[in-house]
Formats: sequence, structure tokens, C-alpha cells
Amino acid sequence: MDRLYAPWRREYHIKNNKKINEKCVFCAIAASAENDEDNQVFYRDKICFFVMNRFPYNPGHFMIIPNRHIGKYEDLNEKEVTHIAKIAKIGCKILKDFGADGINMGWNLGFDGGAGIPGHIHLHMVPRFKRDTNMMTTLFDTRVYSADFDKVFEEIKKISKNYL
Ligand SMILES: [Zn+2]
Repeated sequence: MDRLYAPWRREYHIKNNKKINEKCVFCAIAASAENDEDNQVFYRDKICFFVMNRFPYNPGHFMIIPNRHIGKYEDLNEKEVTHIAKIAKIGCKILKDFGADGINMGWNLGFDGGAGIPGHIHLHMVPRFKRDTNMMTTLFDTRVYSADFDKVFEEIKKISKNYL
């Protein structure tokens, strides 16, 4: 599916890249807390971070990403699995407060599983809205995305403060 975007957006801001996989944007984000505003990271801890998706399916689409560079779900250790599963519950609360009528949660694993960045797994948290399938999507296989990315980030961040 093609997507049309307005307004256009910045690339992820990458400055700090010590002891990380330099080719991996998620590792760069994980290692540079000082750029969280630019990268639209709204939560981080020792195991994972929450970041807005740069190519959202819907406004409010964010990802929960382990700090560790791993490409296979089965390589998550027990602590990571448990922590991410638990904290995803908070992700759901955030999206519902944001106005989601439904939610798609999912890991796209591997290039052929649809992962945009297959080397570093990430859990998509996609809000769904009652009328989010419009004529453009249905007829032209294209989504028109007109929400303001910064405003959406600010709103999600504000809501997340109630839980995180
Ligand atoms: Zn990585």
C-alpha cells in the first residue's frame, strides 16, 4: 500500500553511536537519550523504549523496541519477553486514551515477515479508528495522512505520563 504524507517529516536524529550497531537506526535511538524529543521517543527504561513510528499506519502508531540489537523474537531473554508483554498493556491504555476504537499489536519478523528494519525487532502498536478505512484506501490503495506528527507525538507523550 502506498501512503501520502503531509506534512513531511524529519529523519530520525542520529548523533551518538558508540558501542552500537552503527547501521541500525533503532540502536542509534536506543543509545541517544539526548535526542529523544527529535526522535519522538516518549519512554525508555533499561530494557526497551517507546517511539513514534515514522511511517505510521494511523496517527498514534508507535513501537515498543528492545534496547538490545536482536533480529529474532526467540532471542529475547525471559526478562525482556516479560517486561515487553507487561509494558505493552500500558501501550494499549495510552492508545485507548488517545481515542483508539481498536488496536493492532504485532511483531513483523524478518524481511519476509514485513519488517522495515529486520535486524532489530520491534512491536507495533497501531490504533484503529471506526472510520479509518476511507475511500482512498479502498479504491486507490493509498492512505492520505494529514495529522500533524508533532502534535500527535505531544498528545501521546502527555497521555503516557499518566501511566509511565
Ligand atoms: Zn539495532
